[in-house]
Amino acid sequence: MLIVMKHNATEAQIGSVVDVIKEMGYGARPIPGEQRTAVGLIGNDGQVDSARLQGLEGVLEVIPVTHPYKQVSREWREENTVISLENGTTIGGDEIVIMAGPCAVEGEAQILGIAHELREMGATVLRGGAFKPRSSPYSFQGLGLEGLHFLAKAREETGLAIVTEALDPDGADLVAEYADIIQIGARNMQNYPLLRRAGQTGKPILLKRGLSATIDELLLAAEYILAEGNDDVILCERGIRSFDQHTRNLLDLAAIPVVKALSHLPIIADPSHGTGLRAKVTPMGRAAIAAGADGLIVEVHPDPPHAMSDGAQSLYPAQFGEMMEQIRVIAKAIGRDVTRPLSGVVAR
Ligand code: PEP
Ligand code: MN
Repeated sequence: MLIVMKHNATEAQIGSVVDVIKEMGYGARPIPGEQRTAVGLIGNDGQVDSARLQGLEGVLEVIPVTHPYKQVSREWREENTVISLENGTTIGGDEIVIMAGPCAVEGEAQILGIAHELREMGATVLRGGAFKPRSSPYSFQGLGLEGLHFLAKAREETGLAIVTEALDPDGADLVAEYADIIQIGARNMQNYPLLRRAGQTGKPILLKRGLSATIDELLLAAEYILAEGNDDVILCERGIRSFDQHTRNLLDLAAIPVVKALSHLPIIADPSHGTGLRAKVTPMGRAAIAAGADGLIVEVHPDPPHAMSDGAQSLYPAQFGEMMEQIRVIAKAIGRDVTRPLSGVVAR
């Protein structure tokens, strides 16, 4: 339930709405907006005396939130959530963010080398898994803590922000010490203890859509993070299972405008896992931006044939450069811009 305040409501009036909600035994969360403030009532058990709230000074209207997800919904917050990273990148505003890097961190030279190249080509966030959720227990599982150290070094040298995956709740605390964004992978989208702990770190979270998750399930998973008081969630469409075998997954581009209408959270697309095929990554990346995605996360490897994971879907650096040029043109056509490349001196 949302208590929308009049545009000229005073701080004291907002405060007394919060007090009354708490007195009634519920949680209260003021949501400042450009036009007016609203107060979200958390924990609605269907017994709320809305007439009492309606009668308070400064209240314009009391509206029920009809979706099963509350804080994630556009009913709860009309304006887009915009997430700011320390290196100046914003996600969810007018700018389009490009996150790129190898599937996995494979060594210091590999990640540092590709980080410098990607920075030159205009990426502002570096991806790379240190902890890898592999379908087979016998596949490369990632370098672990050592991988996080290499990522931290890459950030230090290039200024790129870091996004990397956490596999379990303790891992979320560890990753939070090194990363700018904690990735929760498709296989863990409904790992609720992980969602809660990741939310508690206060770090921005990249939440990938589960392999067969509906859009409502994705939004409810995000609600777990917001329920911990962390609003900085970036959703990611990364393809869902389908009956067709020509691509690894079916990149559900319609999910992008659907999510945009239902939620204020940013949504990016992952055309790498979404297609599984290098040659399909650029066309689907272009399409995702045209569909309104707030950015892309793309796998790029210096030597894809020898990659330790996901080589077949990894772009060569030069292909990534070409894709960036095309994305810039598409962004302009829809009144947006790709985040400006990082400037300044680069340590080597
Ligand atoms: C990844 O980003 O490398 C990854 C494992 O992605 P997903 O969770 O979408 O499969
Ligand atoms: Mn991968």
